[in-house]
Amino acid sequence: MLKGKTAVVTGASRGIGRAIALKLAEQGANVVVNYVHSETEGQKLVEEMIGLGVRALAVKADVSIFDEAAQLIACAKEEFGSVDILVNNAGITRDGLIMRMSEEDFNRVVQVNLNGVFNCSRHAVPLMVKQRSGRVINITSVAGMVGNAGQVNYAAAKAGIVGLTKSLAKEVGSRGITVNAIAPGFIETDMTAVLTDKVKDTLKESIALKHFGKPENIADTVIFLASDTGEYITGQVICVDGGMVF
Ligand code: NAD
Repeated sequence: MLKGKTAVVTGASRGIGRAIALKLAEQGANVVVNYVHSETEGQKLVEEMIGLGVRALAVKADVSIFDEAAQLIACAKEEFGSVDILVNNAGITRDGLIMRMSEEDFNRVVQVNLNGVFNCSRHAVPLMVKQRSGRVINITSVAGMVGNAGQVNYAAAKAGIVGLTKSLAKEVGSRGITVNAIAPGFIETDMTAVLTDKVKDTLKESIALKHFGKPENIADTVIFLASDTGEYITGQVICVDGGMVF
């Protein structure tokens, strides 16, 4: 379905990003796996994808740094000739109530989660404009839509992604580029593994389907948006949350 397309997935060495990268490869896309710390994991994933018959490359870059994001996109262009799909997935949390949150914890979360999306899009979109096609898919969160106590930094950054997504969709729609966001609810990854069983049980009560999602649920939605099935969808935020925000 995506044979010959090139995808860049940020923060792809584990969790949701890893599932997205794998599904893109399963659909035939060549994939650039961005990682910031885990070279071994990134390399392992690349080998797994090559085993699926596609081309793949692991590239180290901190997406919160403008020049590193530029290098990431340049590597993709150099190696595979284009960037057709950009999945801005990299994200961090540094939770805390505002009365105890440091300026550093606020700024770092915004820099990675929001500036990271700007930095990678800023360098990938000109390539997409030139080829008059492209898909930008940003991973936000239900926290950015309804807020979450203890996450003013994270929710602000994720809400910022929603505004960025809608604005960019309006800017580049006439060039054949779609820009959408996916808002996961609670998904079983390292990010949510830190929650106690008691907290998890309480959270499950607020989910219509009464259980957490899997990284593959997000990856399937990326495939839907990145392939022909998503060609007439832009500027949207799709909640994949088992029924939390509706
Ligand atoms: P995770 O912590 O398992 O993975 C995040 C990845 O981002 C890691 O590989 C990490 O190394 C990478 N990363 C962090 N900072 C980076 C940087 N500066 N540059 C490049 N990469 C960086 O978390 P996850 O659960 O897989 O989350 C993936 C995305 O989904 C995040 O944007 C997160 O906010 C969002 N999300 C997750 C959930 C959930 O329940 N897990 C819910 C809503 C939204």
